[in-house]
Amino acid sequence: LVRLRDRLARSGSPLGTRLLAVLSRDHLGEDDWDELEETLLLADVGAGPAAELIEALRTQVRVHGVKDAASVRAMLRAELVALVDPDLDRTLHTTPTVHEDGTKTPAVLLVVGVNGTGKTTTVGKLTRVLVAEGSTVVLGAADTFRAAAADQLTTWGARVGVETVRSFKDGADPAAVAFDTVRTARERGVDVVLVDTAGRLQNKAGLMDELGKITRVITKEAPLTEVLLVLDATTGQNGLNQARVFAEVAGVTGIVLTKLDGTAKGGIVVAVQRELGVPVKLVGLGEGPDDLAPFDAEGFVDGLLQ
Ligand code: GDP
Repeated sequence: LVRLRDRLARSGSPLGTRLLAVLSRDHLGEDDWDELEETLLLADVGAGPAAELIEALRTQVRVHGVKDAASVRAMLRAELVALVDPDLDRTLHTTPTVHEDGTKTPAVLLVVGVNGTGKTTTVGKLTRVLVAEGSTVVLGAADTFRAAAADQLTTWGARVGVETVRSFKDGADPAAVAFDTVRTARERGVDVVLVDTAGRLQNKAGLMDELGKITRVITKEAPLTEVLLVLDATTGQNGLNQARVFAEVAGVTGIVLTKLDGTAKGGIVVAVQRELGVPVKLVGLGEGPDDLAPFDAEGFVDGLLQ
């Protein structure tokens, strides 16, 4: 796993550059505070949180009589960390249940989200991490609407010796594929199942129907350990709208924020966690096999402020 802080720093965050430009001024006047707030808004932190942060910072500056840029910067860092790190459990649950008779119920992670956000890539990267940690894994290609998606997933799996359960019929029932995947994993005593789904956000009823059915058939075989929603960090407020819909239909337990490399829009972390009460658990930092990292609030903020 790459270190979030280093990777974000290397991508040269425009947010950090702008924030630091303002904070390096000798004296912060009304215009400077406005500019700071605007910078946070541009980064998709959201209007409420941005205003609160600026207010908290101004109060501290006033109360402590702080004037130098380094101190303001340290306060900003502390406020940002508090903002991106509310009291949410970021543990990614991938441990199977081992029964007294020695049989195993796999951990089942369902990966949902709109097409193109990076679901398949995320599943591929996560598979590598799990295999490297010594877990056995089976993948389910429940995105049956695009044959290419199943091919892509199969390729990711094959590279680390992991099997992908799929259908070769376009438009096959995704729930049937999901069921077969979990059944296969159970029969073989595999530790973790990752199920990739299609992201057709045609309408809420259709999505609810499809994900509802997938969830129901999976839980006949094993409880769902995680429902991970994949969001593209570059889509800003649109990502937040997607998150609302999926949270409503799929009982999301964690967010994977992809494409954080080279975007100043990471502020969506704040908005999504605040609005849904669901933690960002993983972040995507590129298209490569090792570009996945656990979310860590301090590293994230330091990356922004480099
Ligand atoms: P899906 O339709 O949700 O399964 O999306 P894919 O996994 O096929 O990814 C869509 C595109 O986004 C591909 O070109 C990926 O290589 C790219 N992608 C996925 N994750 C990341 C990331 O973290 N950073 C960048 N830069 N690209 C990513």
